[in-house]
This record gives sequence, C-alpha cells and structure tokens, in this order.
Amino acid sequence: MKTHEVAVREYKQLINGEWTASSSGETIERRSPATGEVVAKFFLGTIEDTQQAIAAARTAFGNGPWPRMSGAERGRILHRLAQLVRENLERLALIEAQEVGKPIKEARGEMEMCISLIEYAASMSQQIYGQSYSNLGAKRTAMVVKEPVGVVGIITAWNFPAVVLCQKLPFALATGCTTVVKPSEFTSGTTLEISRLAQEAGVPDGVINVVTGYGDVVGQSMIDSPEIDRISFTGSTATGKKVLARSAQYIRKVTMELGGKSAMIVFEDADLEDALDGAMLGFMLNQGEECVSNSRLLIHEKIADDFLEKLVEKVKKIKVGNPLSEDTDMGALIHEDHVNKVLAYIESAKQAGARLLTGGNRLIGGEHQNGCFVEPTIFDQVDQNMKVFQEEIFGPVLSVTRFQNLEEAISLANSVDYGLGNSVWTKDIDKAMTVSRALRSGSVWVNTLIDIVPELPAGGYKASGFGRELGTFSIDEFMEVKTINIHTGKRTPYYNV
Ligand code: NAD
Repeated sequence: MKTHEVAVREYKQLINGEWTASSSGETIERRSPATGEVVAKFFLGTIEDTQQAIAAARTAFGNGPWPRMSGAERGRILHRLAQLVRENLERLALIEAQEVGKPIKEARGEMEMCISLIEYAASMSQQIYGQSYSNLGAKRTAMVVKEPVGVVGIITAWNFPAVVLCQKLPFALATGCTTVVKPSEFTSGTTLEISRLAQEAGVPDGVINVVTGYGDVVGQSMIDSPEIDRISFTGSTATGKKVLARSAQYIRKVTMELGGKSAMIVFEDADLEDALDGAMLGFMLNQGEECVSNSRLLIHEKIADDFLEKLVEKVKKIKVGNPLSEDTDMGALIHEDHVNKVLAYIESAKQAGARLLTGGNRLIGGEHQNGCFVEPTIFDQVDQNMKVFQEEIFGPVLSVTRFQNLEEAISLANSVDYGLGNSVWTKDIDKAMTVSRALRSGSVWVNTLIDIVPELPAGGYKASGFGRELGTFSIDEFMEVKTINIHTGKRTPYYNV
C-alpha cells in the first residue's frame, strides 16, 4: 500500500528566525507507520543547537518587541496564524496522518481544534489583567499585575503533535513569553509547519525556536538550562518523573501533562445508543493512542451482556487501514516497538484470565502488510488487579469490568494511579453529580467523552500530572504575579532614633 505520492519532506530547525541544519548535520527519517515509506526527515538537534535556541529566546524576551507589544497586537498576529492554519488545513492534516498514522478525517478534526485553540489564545491576549486595591488606608494603593514568565521550554508527545503544541504555544505567545519547542522525534512535521506559519503571520524572530531530535539530548539540555524560566511538558508519566527530578536543580515552574487510564462508567439508565458510540470513541480514537482514552469500561451488571454484544457487533465493522483513505476509521500505531508493547498487554490479559470478546491480533497481509496495525480489542471480566486495568496501554484495547452499584463504580474508577478524564453515563442527575464529584480526575464528562473545548481547563490529578491548560488557566500558567504596593505621603518612622 502506498499512502500518497509525495516527496519526502526535509525539515530544518528554526533558531532565531533562521531555518538551519543541526550542528551535527545528522538527520532522522520518519517512516509512515502505515506503509513503511519515508515521509519526512528531521535534523538531530544537538546540545549546541538547543543552547543557541535558548539564547535566541532569551534575547527576544529581554530586548525584542514581542513582550513589549500590546495584547491587542499579539492577538492580531495570533488571529492571522489561525487563519493561515485554516488555509493550510489539508496539507497539515495530510502530514499528521502520514507521520502519526491516524485517519485523515481525524487529522482534519485535529487541525480544526488547533484553529479553535489559537483563536481562543488570541482572544485571551486581551484578557490579561490584575487587581487594584484602594481600601488599604488613605496612604496606600496597590496593584497586582501579571507579567510573562519569560522563556518557556515546550516539550511535546507524538500522539496529537499539533493539538498538544497548540494547547501550549499560542497561550505562551499570548502572554508575551518567548519559546523553545522540542516536538517528538517521531512526529515533528506539523510543529515545524505551524512555526513557519507563525513567522508568516508576523511572530518576530527568536520568539519561537524549534529544535528537533531526541529527548535525552535536546529535551534534557532544555531542562538543564537555567535560562529557561518555565517548562511545559506533555508525555508519559515515566518521562515526566525524569523531567521533574532533573528540573529540581532550579527553582522554576513546571507543568506536567502525563498519561491516563480513564474510565467510562455506564449505568443501567443511560442512553445506551449514545453510550455505545461513546465506548467505541473512548478506546479507538487515534488508535487508542490518546491520553484521555476511556480504555476501561465499567458497566452495570444488569445491562452488561446486552451492551457488550452490541458493542462487539459494531466494533467488528470498524475499518482499520490506510490512514489516507476517507473511509478508514482506525489507522496505524506509531511504530513497531509500540505494536509489540500493545500485543504484550493483550497477551498479559489473556494469561490473567480476562475473556477476549473481539480482536487481539496484529493485522497482516494486503493493505496491512507493511504497517503497524492492531485490531480493536475488547476484554470482558477484567479484574482490577490486572495490568490491562491498571496500566496505560495507549492502543485500541478496551477492558470491561462489571459493577453492582454506584459505590463500587466509583471505587473501581478511582483505583488506578492516574486521574485524567473519566466519563459518566446516566440520565439521573443525582447519580451524575455524585459520581462526578467523587472521581479523582482533572476532567469528568457526563454523557459525552473526550469532548475538549478551549474554554474548559484540562489537566491531571495524581500520576496524570499537574498544572492546567486551556480556559483562563492557560494564561496563568505562563505568567508571574507581581504586587506593587504604593505608599503616598509621609511614612510613619519604624525606628525611634
Ligand atoms: P514520552 O514521554 O516518551 O515523550 C514525550 C516528549 O519528551 C518527547 O518529545 C520526548 O522526546 C521527550 N523526552 C524523552 N525523554 C526526555 C528527557 N529525558 N528529558 C526531556 N524530554 C524528554 O511520551 P510519548 O510516547 O511521546 O507520548 C505518549 C504519552 O504522552 C502517553 O503517556 C500519553 O498519555 C501522554 N500524553 C499526555 C497528554 C496530556 O495532555 N495529559 C496529551 C498527549 C499525550
């Protein structure tokens, strides 16, 4: 299977407004996980490249126009960027589908989300204001002002490279910060493309710098630099722990958007047609490579058999294949090692005694021959001690556990280390609210799931991280708060000497 007849995209890095090769001259190839064809080449960034990028961002913050512009001016540039992303949507979606392996229709949806995020950030740039105090006595007036934190280091994951970038970059820019971005080595294309569009929109040199390559070189030298004031990281909990430990050498703010193992809780009074569609989206969107994937279905025992029969029937009709075909529902996993990791989880569930309802295999032959395709897989009778219940698989694997009552459902949902985005399905408002309040996760969706809008904050509890993106929090994460306390008239002396 050939995905598309396109030339291999060869990218440079963006440092101080210039597109440059890395100091090593070495590159990495990105192969489409669906076909094995080379689709892009990225430079392997070095410590030296990263230091140059950081120095450029530092100078742009210290002396450049960006932090000194009005919010309205920055907002206008961000609106232009949103417009340029819209004009380039089809190309960006194609790149995302080729590099990540996701279906083209989902890649288009991802770009639509990027546009919404950039537009929201643009509007937020005019919503930066503090407080004033006039009731502190006749001789005192004070104000609390918000200022950009400085140089932000942005490190992102491979699964939604463009959206993860747009949850951070436009918001950092809206506040007047300057940035050094390190995308995932697997999927750097859309980050570089969006940064090029940002230049075209009028973002000045040095404000966005992008260094490509490996985490333990580029990412680590960002963490190791005292010239970075803020780290905004999205990735696995395991890497997040390393980044956090290493960050401790400096006192600075860090945001951690990490892994998940969210639950979809379906009560007997739910709209079951809606819930069936939700259950499929919950574990198959982006091949299950989704931080807020609802990969655990917790279902009331009274409706479980009937629900699962219908679910399996529907899942069997899902078309897994060429990400660039319009009728593909699920694409390829990110790379070979990840396929093996997902298959090992499937094997562990079988060994542990879970009941396989559908899937369980790698797809081979025909259009799947050279790709990383795994069937959508559902296990029933999953026990809370099993690995597939507890650990993030990041693939199209759903584990089903039945419950008898609300208390048991809450306890099961909360009995994992993660806490990102659970969902509750019921028509009973009391049940919906009781469960929503009891769940230990940064988001709870009721009768919907993975339903992200720019106005609503997103982030994790527990091992899913800390800090919030989107909503008004998105701005606060990139700002310092300064108190200016003004005394007028003669001070009362402190010392009587
Ligand atoms: P990862 O942790 O392997 O890598 C994330 C980024 O960190 C990459 O750019 C990588 O190169 C870099 N990195 C690796 N080692 C580093 C180091 N020592 N120092 C600095 N940077 C380093 O994650 P991944 O496999 O790319 O992404 C999948 C994970 O991301 C999943 O766990 C998923 O749940 C999570 N994720 C979370 C969210 C969220 O919003 N919570 C969103 C998307 C993905």
